[in-house]
Amino acid sequence: MNVYDSHRMADILHPLGYRAVDTPDDADMVILNTCHIREKATDKVFSDLGRMRDHKDERAKSGKKTLVAVAGCVAQAEGELIMDRAPYVDLVFGPQTYHELPEMVVRALGERVVNTDFPVESKFDSLPVDHVTQDGPSAFVSIQEGCDKFCTFCVVPYTRGAEYSRPAEKILDEAKTLRDRGVKDITLLGQNVNAYHGEAADGSTWSLGRLIQALGDIDGVERIRYMTSHPRDVDQDLIDAHRDVPALMPFMHLPVQSGSDAILKSMNRKHTADHYREIIAKLRAARPDIAFSSDFIVGFPGETEADFEATMQLVRDVRYMSAYSFKYSARPGTPAANMQGLVHDAIMDERLQRLQALLMEQQREFNTAMIGQTVPVLFDGRGRKDGQLYGRTPWNQPMHVMAPAQYFGQIAQVRVNDATATSITGELAQ
Ligand code: SAH
Ligand code: SF4
Repeated sequence: MNVYDSHRMADILHPLGYRAVDTPDDADMVILNTCHIREKATDKVFSDLGRMRDHKDERAKSGKKTLVAVAGCVAQAEGELIMDRAPYVDLVFGPQTYHELPEMVVRALGERVVNTDFPVESKFDSLPVDHVTQDGPSAFVSIQEGCDKFCTFCVVPYTRGAEYSRPAEKILDEAKTLRDRGVKDITLLGQNVNAYHGEAADGSTWSLGRLIQALGDIDGVERIRYMTSHPRDVDQDLIDAHRDVPALMPFMHLPVQSGSDAILKSMNRKHTADHYREIIAKLRAARPDIAFSSDFIVGFPGETEADFEATMQLVRDVRYMSAYSFKYSARPGTPAANMQGLVHDAIMDERLQRLQALLMEQQREFNTAMIGQTVPVLFDGRGRKDGQLYGRTPWNQPMHVMAPAQYFGQIAQVRVNDATATSITGELAQ
């Protein structure tokens, strides 16, 4: 979502004459778009800001002004504190205010600006429809933002605010505009993307499944994905969409966090491990080639060895193609931060290693099972070597393939020759 937000910031600053550059060296403005989800991400902001100060001082020696801005969820959570700790920061703004960037930038040239409002008007109403900075055939479209679920470990409801779904017509328009720019692959984004319940043109409310059906009917939209889903919001419409919409890719990122019912309850996830297993079974029945990834937290307060073993068992039962796993990180202001039963860091490390070894083994099995198969690859990047293109399979696995430059932006059949846990290689089948 931060990648999407950064692109939209570039879009809205484009009419002011700003263009994205690859390094801060030549930048008149640096926007650090930040993440508050775990402590590590937040700490990184302050070390990165230190470098921005040096950079700003260096440019000042040759009479050049550099605006330093902090955006995203750390900006939202720590607004004034950033201003106090980092006097060289000119502008701090939260994730719901970046549509006001042109005004904020002009103000920041004269005074220090902090904006962490949750405006009544959605930013989506003021953002440009066209993604002028779009490059290549793959694009993100944000359809839902914020979260009302309040899992006890999570800062998102506090930093991104309440749940909001964009009207369906606006999303369809944006998808058509992107299609006209050569986009074939759209990833729908939301903190809880399948909690989507947007207003349709006829006044009815559309679920994510219904929206995907309509997107699948747009000529030229060949690949649809979405993330991140919550198990509680997987409904029949979404399962049907996986059965009925050929453009919907056979992949789902469905975070479970833990396989222990006691921990799931304490996390306020509001489902059990068996309920999660049932959802997976229904999706597999609807779309047999569907693959799953997930997020896991180890060492949540109170997690025993038996709770952790239940997580390992769930992983063995589901069999994932990939996954993200994290050590629990206490976040200020969340209910879990005050819970008893902290798990020792060394135990967290050890559990994380065991979990990641199992997940890596499953990833290797998934990838190597593809050897010998021919799969459609969408080429959406330049390769590492000359004559190579970078592309992605329907399961979003990255591939470097020797292919003529005119294949960029196209989908071609690729035969998989070799695979490991972390890479897949192949050659054009035509
Ligand atoms: N809305 C999604 C997840 C959003 S946050 C969901 O409900 O599943 C992305 C991931 O970060 C989470 O799935 C979780 O695994 C991880 N995460 C969030 N807060 C965390 C914390 N306090 N400590 C460790 N990991 C955390
Ligand atoms: Fe955070 Fe996801 Fe829970 Fe919302 S549903 S509070 S975003 S983990």
